[in-house]
Parts: sequence; C-alpha cells; structure tokens
Amino acid sequence: MYNQPRIFVAGGNSLLGSALRRQLRLAGFEDLVGAPPHEPDLLNAEHVEDFFQSVRPEYVFLTAGPSGGIEENRRFPADLMLDNLLVAAHVIPAAFRHGARKLLNVASSCCYPKLAPQPLRSESLFTGPLEPTNAAYATAKLAGMTLCQAYREQYNAAFITAIPANLFGPGDDFHPESGHVIPALMRRMHKALRRGEESVTIWGSGEPRRDFLCAADAADACIFLMQQYDDAAPINIGSGVEISIAEMACAVAEIVGYHGRLIFDTTKPDGVPRKLLDASQLLELGWRPRVEFRAALESTYAWFRAHEVTEDAYAAEAI
Ligand code: GDP
Repeated sequence: MYNQPRIFVAGGNSLLGSALRRQLRLAGFEDLVGAPPHEPDLLNAEHVEDFFQSVRPEYVFLTAGPSGGIEENRRFPADLMLDNLLVAAHVIPAAFRHGARKLLNVASSCCYPKLAPQPLRSESLFTGPLEPTNAAYATAKLAGMTLCQAYREQYNAAFITAIPANLFGPGDDFHPESGHVIPALMRRMHKALRRGEESVTIWGSGEPRRDFLCAADAADACIFLMQQYDDAAPINIGSGVEISIAEMACAVAEIVGYHGRLIFDTTKPDGVPRKLLDASQLLELGWRPRVEFRAALESTYAWFRAHEVTEDAYAAEAI
C-alpha cells in the first residue's frame, strides 16, 4: 500500500466541502483526514490545534465557515462574520504551525466591491465599498484571504486563495429563507406545483446577473489549483457565463415543471447588480468546467426530490 498524502477538507459538510470530498475520492484519494463525523469543531481553537498537532494534514482545503443567501446575510451579519473569522484564525495558523505543505482558502465573490468593473478581476479587490447586504461576511472572507497572503509574505507559506462564483448543487441549503437563490426557488416552485398555486414570488427585480457554477465543477477546480497554482493573488473560479435572475428562474421552472406566473417582489433587495468572475486565468492554466448548467440544475433538483421535506413539514413551517 503506497502512502497517500494527508488531505483535510475543513468544512467537509459544506456544499463545496462535500463536493470536494466526492471529487477527491473519484481522483483516488480515499482516506481524507478529519472527514465528518470526525471533523474537529473549527470554532474551537483547542480542538483545531489538537487535530493539526496529532494528524498533521499536508494539504488543506479551507471551505468552512457558514454562508447563506441574501436574507441570511441581512439577518445574521454578526454571526456570519464572527464564525468565518474564527474558522480562518484557527485553521490557517494551525496549518502553518504543523507543517501543511499547501493550503487553499476558499473566499467568496462578495469580496469584490459592489461596483467593481465586470468581469471581476482580482486587481479590483479592496478598491471600493462592499455590497451592504453582505459586507460583514465578505470582510471576514477578505481577512482570511489577507491572512494567507501574510503567511506567504512572512514565512513563504504556500497558502493560496480561490474565489468561486455563485455555487449550487446537490446537498445545497433548500430553505426558502436561508438558502441561495437556486435551491430556494427550486423548493418554492416545487411546493407551488404540488399545491397547484398560480404564481411564485421571486425576490427583487429579476435583473441582477450572476455567474452560477455547480459545486462539482468548483471542487474540481480547487483540486486543479491545489496542484497547479501557487501565488499570492487570489484566483477566480467561474463559469465565464452570466445570466439574469429572471432567466435562471425560468430555467428552474422548466426543470421543476412549474408553469405558473413568476412575480418579482421589488420590496426585497437585489444585492449586487452583476457578479461575473473573470475566469480567464484559470482557463489559461488549462482547467475547464465539465458540467453543463442545465444538467447541474437537474441533478440538484433530483437531490432535492430524493431528500424532499414532506407536505407536513411545509405546513408546519407555513412557507
Ligand atoms: P447573492 O449573489 O449573494 O446575492 O446570492 P443569493 O443567491 O442570495 O441571491 C441572488 C439574487 O437572487 C439576488 O438578486 C436575490 O434578490 C435574488 N433572489 C430571488 N429570489 C430569491 C430567493 O428566494 N432567495 C434568495 N436567496 N435570493 C433570491
């Protein structure tokens, strides 16, 4: 039996973390260290230190820290910011202290200034104010990114940061309040179809544009970058394509088979008007997305159907 590198996916149960564990297994890395249910409590400095000291992971994917859709960010900015700061402050230094060869820190496209030129390039980071609905969360992600750069500068650590587009996929958070737009709309339309409702509400104007990428492709890109990229500058992981929320809602309606009206509730926030990542650097390195958008929507909906909440649960939640 040859020795496999010790790989730790911090946040192994997150959308990206679980996709990463799946893709790593497919690539032949069977024995990940600290995989759920054995992941240390990343909010607890002592647990993280003990874990890194005893296991000494060689490659660390930092996908941990809570995240949520626009409403979750509006309601829980302090919790989201604090937990993401804690995770970064625990994992990044512990990885360095205990000899990790490389760490890939996953940030977020909300780290870009609200009105940065499109497509978004890493040079635009820190050049203007953040979108207010997610400024607290984004600031924590920017702190994690800067901490990685500081370890590189001070200690020559091979710590890199990737910035993924808006992710979705099987295992996503389908809750209508906390989830991101794709799973939230899938569930809302599914429920409306079941109940024979004539319309479904979409938050905001439908005009914002987003770069949606399935978690399996993002995970694949993270593995690629762990092998191919070693630079202080954060690197984008995007699909290179943007669509409007209204267009995406129509695509979701088709997948779900919902033919009712889509009503746009402009009392709800739109968030950033556009968020298209410039993925040219990643493409130049040779990476390509593999999963077509529609196929990814289908597998996401299939996962939801397989884990569907019951009508009783809908009634209890009154949603
Ligand atoms: P964002 O990229 O951080 O804004 O992520 P979201 O996935 O939360 O929202 C993307 C866009 O979809 C925003 O313009 C929202 O206003 C819009 N949107 C429409 N309906 C929904 C919904 O039911 N849930 C969420 N989260 N966003 C929605």
